[in-house]
Amino acid sequence: EQSQETHEFQAETGRLMDILINSLYTQKEIFLRELISNAADALDKIRFLSVKNPEILGEKTELAIRIEINTEEKTVSVTDSGIGMTKNDLISNLGTIAKSGTTQFIEAIKGGNVNLIGQFGVGFYSCFLAGQKVSVASKNTDDDQYIWESQAAHSFAVSKDPRGNTLGRGTQVTIHLKQDAVEFAEESTIKELIKKYSEFINFPIYLKVTREISKQVEDDSEQQQQDDQQQQENTDDDEVKVKDDDDDDADTKKKATKTIKEKVAEWVQINENKAIWLRPKEEISDDDYKKFYKVLSKNSGEDPFNWVHFKAEGEVEFTSLIYIPKRAPSDMFDNYYGKQTTNLKLYVRRVLISEEFEDILPRYLSFVKGVIDSDELPLNVNRETLQQLKMLKVISRKIVKKILELFQDSASYDEEDEEDSEEGEEDENMAETTPEEQQRLKDEKRKKKIDEYNEFWKEYGKNIKLGVIEDSSNRQKLAELTRWYSSKNSTELTSFDDYIERAKPGQDSIYYLAGENKEQLLASPIIQGLLKKGYEVLLLDDPVDEFTFQHLNEYKQKKLVNVGKGDFKQPEDNDEQRKKQKALKKVFQPLTDWWRKLLSESVDSVIISQRLIDDPIIVVSSESGYSANMERISKAQAY
Ligand code: ADP
Ligand code: MG
Repeated sequence: EQSQETHEFQAETGRLMDILINSLYTQKEIFLRELISNAADALDKIRFLSVKNPEILGEKTELAIRIEINTEEKTVSVTDSGIGMTKNDLISNLGTIAKSGTTQFIEAIKGGNVNLIGQFGVGFYSCFLAGQKVSVASKNTDDDQYIWESQAAHSFAVSKDPRGNTLGRGTQVTIHLKQDAVEFAEESTIKELIKKYSEFINFPIYLKVTREISKQVEDDSEQQQQDDQQQQENTDDDEVKVKDDDDDDADTKKKATKTIKEKVAEWVQINENKAIWLRPKEEISDDDYKKFYKVLSKNSGEDPFNWVHFKAEGEVEFTSLIYIPKRAPSDMFDNYYGKQTTNLKLYVRRVLISEEFEDILPRYLSFVKGVIDSDELPLNVNRETLQQLKMLKVISRKIVKKILELFQDSASYDEEDEEDSEEGEEDENMAETTPEEQQRLKDEKRKKKIDEYNEFWKEYGKNIKLGVIEDSSNRQKLAELTRWYSSKNSTELTSFDDYIERAKPGQDSIYYLAGENKEQLLASPIIQGLLKKGYEVLLLDDPVDEFTFQHLNEYKQKKLVNVGKGDFKQPEDNDEQRKKQKALKKVFQPLTDWWRKLLSESVDSVIISQRLIDDPIIVVSSESGYSANMERISKAQAY
């Protein structure tokens, strides 16, 4: 009955553990973070199930994490009343690595970036940074309580727990600390660490602390503890006591007393256990927001680019906290039109319903991370029917709106300037400086803001461009966020609004040309005429650009004109020019006719154009056809 099975770790797991232990040994403490995070995950799972089936909790209705240290034995244990693991779960979850890409991960952590550990789904193995032996007792409703045990090396053992189903439900991980990690058996160390890592865990975390209390006992009594009742009776008989009965602790028994010190253990809750997104904004510091982002992004290590925290009211009430990561995920476009996973966690009344909430955001915004919490969605909703709820459409629309506003804030520099100068301190400083100095400071600020936005554009520009194509209801808003290179300055990005501001009087079009690279475009004979007349041409060098412009078609009543196509109407065509043009057309009619006949297989028409300056002839695509650039792109895609 007490048979013990020994299993080999999957080869990759073994290798990973070796490397973990040998390269991350200076960062032992992260094991606690990972254990707490696993406990919270397991609690989220049982809470989710209990919504549909409250009986599943049985007698164990408390959902909490309890941490205990044993100074003599040098152990730390983390116990949760979460979903627990069956024998098979123990073998597969704690013996193999589910996630692919482990090889890359192993390479990455060799460089010492410990923060990656949580993201790769191998957090559990960090136990072996501090533990020479780790044992996991677990009880899942579908099985008896089992123990998983390992001393790293290459194997682990699984056996039925001889103590029986002591946990009721849940998991207890016990770390037998290594010689050089005994500090984790100290109350103060562990307390600090729990504080550090548990702030945003949505379950109470208790630490068992021992406290010394002084106690007065009868000198001759061996029994140190007498119940209050008896003490009360004693004092009632006691005349002396009656006189100073306001002194609670004073022992006024007739018999002699002595003071002894006694150790009592008690559970103390360490974390506040209040979801950050439900706290009032005024009470949350930027630092808190950044810390929570770390938890949410599984410790990606970097601060977010920006965030927005809001409560939506009206049709549907919900709270949301959304972050824009500083860097786009490197695989964002690997399977863009395939299955999309988002990084939005959906809570209904604080119950985590879905970790990767699909379809709530349009594809082009899949990079944002955050939390949505709504009291109005039905709690017993399952993940499938969730997608069909009308309410979600409203939530989605509102979130997209907020995200776009957040982008807008980052993209605009003028408003920010005004806002800043409203601050008192700034004003005082400004007053002391000369107007030139003030201007310089303003310019500097503006430049900083632009640089920051350009960074954002570098990471997510493609998403915004795809947004223009895919999200017709937000097309114009998204267009405002776009940035392009232009003939005016081919090294600095410009917005449509800036282009329009520089446009010539009466110019009713925005000119653009798409191609392989800016240098080629700038030198193209197609645009020389326009440039000479002082017009600006946007230079589109990304394959997606031309599609974006086609979908947009116009921006703030200015038509977007592809100068690489057809014979677009030249600006400044006045009557005289038109006359001249007509005359030329007539003179060259025989030539164009002859040419059209000769090339009838390959061209639509041959015309006299005024766009060229130094070149005699040019081949362009027709207004309605594919542009040369599109041809190039579709050819490239065909391979
Ligand atoms: P991750 O948490 O990213 O999945 P870990 O290495 O931390 O990766 O954990 C591996 C798996 O072990 C978890 O996915 C979960 O299935 C299981 N597990 C770990 N700790 C617990 C726990 N306290 N309760 C239930 N299951 C757990
Ligand atoms: Mg984990």
